[in-house]
Amino acid sequence: MSGTLRTKVCVVGGGLTGVSTALHLAERGIDCVLLESERIGHGASGRNGGQIVQGYSADMSKVENTVGAEDARVLWSMMREAVDDIPERVKRHKIDCDLRWGYLHAAYSKRQMDGLRGTVETYTKYGYDGCEIVGKADLGKVLGSDAYVGGMLDPDSGQIHPLAYLRGLAGAAEFLGAQIFERSPAVEITRGTTVSVRTVTGTVEADWLVLAGNAYLGKVFPSIRPRLMPVASFVAVTEPLDRDLLRALFPQDVAVADCNLALDYFRTTSDGRLLFGAGASYSAITPPGLANWMTRRMTKVFPELEGVGIDHVWGGLIGITANRLPDFGRVADNILHAQGFSGQGMALTGLAGKVMAETIDGNDSRFKLIEQIRHLPFPGGPFRTPALVAAMGFAKLRDAMGF
Ligand SMILES: Cc1cc2nc3c(=O)[nH]c(=O)nc-3n(C[C@H](O)[C@H](O)[C@H](O)COP(=O)(O)OP(=O)(O)OC[C@H]3O[C@@H](n4cnc5c(N)ncnc54)[C@H](O)[C@@H]3O)c2cc1C
Repeated sequence: MSGTLRTKVCVVGGGLTGVSTALHLAERGIDCVLLESERIGHGASGRNGGQIVQGYSADMSKVENTVGAEDARVLWSMMREAVDDIPERVKRHKIDCDLRWGYLHAAYSKRQMDGLRGTVETYTKYGYDGCEIVGKADLGKVLGSDAYVGGMLDPDSGQIHPLAYLRGLAGAAEFLGAQIFERSPAVEITRGTTVSVRTVTGTVEADWLVLAGNAYLGKVFPSIRPRLMPVASFVAVTEPLDRDLLRALFPQDVAVADCNLALDYFRTTSDGRLLFGAGASYSAITPPGLANWMTRRMTKVFPELEGVGIDHVWGGLIGITANRLPDFGRVADNILHAQGFSGQGMALTGLAGKVMAETIDGNDSRFKLIEQIRHLPFPGGPFRTPALVAAMGFAKLRDAMGF
């Protein structure tokens, strides 16, 4: 962008949060300019594993302890709405993004199976009884791997091509009047009743600012950074696999994730490959020889893939919060932010965009519900990453030992 643009809302960040905000604003007839540093989907939204997982990254019991039982029920139904919105949008905007349903949470240990049984109970308490526990004897009907002791099948979670979905949403937003500028990093923000957002080549002046840069926001707005820890996760995509082998590995074509803290997540692609994700490395450091590291993790689950080529491999940053619940807030009356989906942003980012658009349109009741969740800052300076690595150390050790 160049020159000075005047608009109602300036959105910084062209991932699912920013684009969803722009789309919901445009649907409401509200003027909006979206600035993206690189290309739409440059951040986590274009790099992620495409797993649509219902629920928050923290247990509902933590949600209850944080906001009380009544608001926890509202937050549950907002989460369900966020999942339902995905097929609705795919249909409405005719987005070709390989949306499929069915999901297996796979357990390595009795402790993890007990956790999954607890999840079934919790979901039932909240009115969703679709999940089913699968024991070791029946697991082969769902997944061709001996690595797990059982799992939980969830028909209301699934998978999607995330970048295709995001681009479809961005196209719909532009069609409805949102202005999207790529390669336009916001480099300076000046607060006021009119917020001024400077890029290298121009300025956007707006009544409202939405910060949707998540783990990629960097230093442009430092005050919301301490509540977020960027952690790395990685994805590898194999060469096309034999169709019979793929059917044997994924008889029900569900997406899968294990229950470890540094979890593996995987699914098939529409062109017959395995997309295998692994993370999170809480040190945010890329393992040396990433493709080999990914192959080792993948062949622990599927030994028959030894020798299969990796055609693509990449990494990205997930924004996590200390309590694993999303961080929505306002730095000023007219500056909103939403970040920290803690690895479950595929659906929750849509909710973020929806409630920020509602807020700007005059109804902030749902934004307030999430805004009330308090977030502790991560330690700063040189202790930031080591403290998190230490905190995660025990949990990772426990997962590795299988108890
Ligand atoms: C490897 C990986 C795998 C994942 N797998 C899954 C999964 O399977 N399921 C799931 O639910 N979640 C997954 N996640 C998490 C999910 O991708 C995120 O929660 C979600 O994409 C966050 O979207 P966002 O729009 O908030 O942030 P992002 O998608 O990160 O977008 C932020 C954007 O802001 C831009 N930006 C930053 N600063 C500026 C600036 N100053 N000016 C302009 N633009 C700026 C960035 O370039 C970026 O494009 C994964 C994440 C990663 C990294």
